Amino acid sequence: MPGRHFLFVPGPTNVPDRIQRAMMVAMADHRSSRFPELSKPIFAALKELFQCREGEAFIFCATGTGAWEAALTNTLSPGDRVLAPRIGQFSHLWIDMMERLGLNVQVLDCEWGTGAPEARIEEALRADKERLIKGVMIVHNETTTGVTSDLRAVRLAMDAANHPALLYVDAVSSLASIDLRFSEWRVDVCVAGSQKGLMMPAGLGLLCVSPAALAASRNAGLKRVFFDFGDMLRTNPGGYFPYTPSIPLLHGLREALSMLKEEGLAAVFHRHARLAAGVREAVEAWGLELCAKAPRWYSNTVSTVMVPPGKDGARVVDIAFRKYDLALGAGLSRLAGKAFRIGHLGDLNELMLAGALAGTEMALADSGIEITEGSGVGAAQTYWRTGITAAERRGERLVANA
Ligand code: PLP
Repeated sequence: MPGRHFLFVPGPTNVPDRIQRAMMVAMADHRSSRFPELSKPIFAALKELFQCREGEAFIFCATGTGAWEAALTNTLSPGDRVLAPRIGQFSHLWIDMMERLGLNVQVLDCEWGTGAPEARIEEALRADKERLIKGVMIVHNETTTGVTSDLRAVRLAMDAANHPALLYVDAVSSLASIDLRFSEWRVDVCVAGSQKGLMMPAGLGLLCVSPAALAASRNAGLKRVFFDFGDMLRTNPGGYFPYTPSIPLLHGLREALSMLKEEGLAAVFHRHARLAAGVREAVEAWGLELCAKAPRWYSNTVSTVMVPPGKDGARVVDIAFRKYDLALGAGLSRLAGKAFRIGHLGDLNELMLAGALAGTEMALADSGIEITEGSGVGAAQTYWRTGITAAERRGERLVANA
């Protein structure tokens, strides 16, 4: 199709021209004395992105799934107990990995559309009198349901229980888009990938690890080879890797980190919040519902939109793709056919998103879902112009009428 493809899945996201150009490099010797000039500043900037004051950042040639595995195998031993809320498909897959690695997972099953249940976490930790639970495993942003958990509240719950478990966070679809304060919230192991908020292709699994988790890694009994932190710790401080790194991806990462720094992290988070709020205005104007059950769970990187009973979300996604060259995210797992997802993260602005909302409206109408064409785009426009939501306007009117 002529014109630009509209990529609005919640990862991979659009790769800005600047990053694409930065990745077009000749291969170089990754053992040369010049290589650390590229690599060392990347580690420092990555720690800043995680808002990490103390700890280490690691870069693996992997995806988020590899980073999950690195997080677990470096810090835990076979049979260790961990506490993991299951709030959607990605938390489910992470739990599945924990079980396959031989960990003893205490699962907290939650209604999809809600986030990590702080009170239940506190209760479970208080009940663990022998302090057997070694880790609390939280998916910060559940990409299936469009739900963001409150990490600060989880940390407070852990503190309230006075429990020494480490806090593990999957930030695959939140890093560089939603505020995540590694040091302030005392996260111990945080994992991410390159293909979402960092605006790059998939291929880098990123981690930030606290001193406590690094200490745990010295006695952790799970087997790891490629993902061993120890090998990284022996080479990274000099600016090297224990194996051949992906040089184009490192150049891309350097550029991505520069772009995020130029915009400023606070501005990046604010932009994502503003764009997401516009999408939610559109969903409301269409008369549809989000999977996220309450505003406290709304994600600023992905909105999972439920289709009315009897309608097919997969059809909306397919029509959008085939007819309008718009890639929306499909409903996953138990949401298959029941929902579709709009990714709104990465290199994005209002007009790009307005185009995606227009395409979504056309695909919804083509799928026989009754919406008023233009209603969603109009609602988002009004919000982006004024910063006032429809609900706030209704409130104002009530006050005015009173
Ligand atoms: N965790 C979350 C929250 C995700 O959204 C994803 C992928 O979308 C993953 C983990 C897995 O990451 P990857 O596909 O990079 O292996």
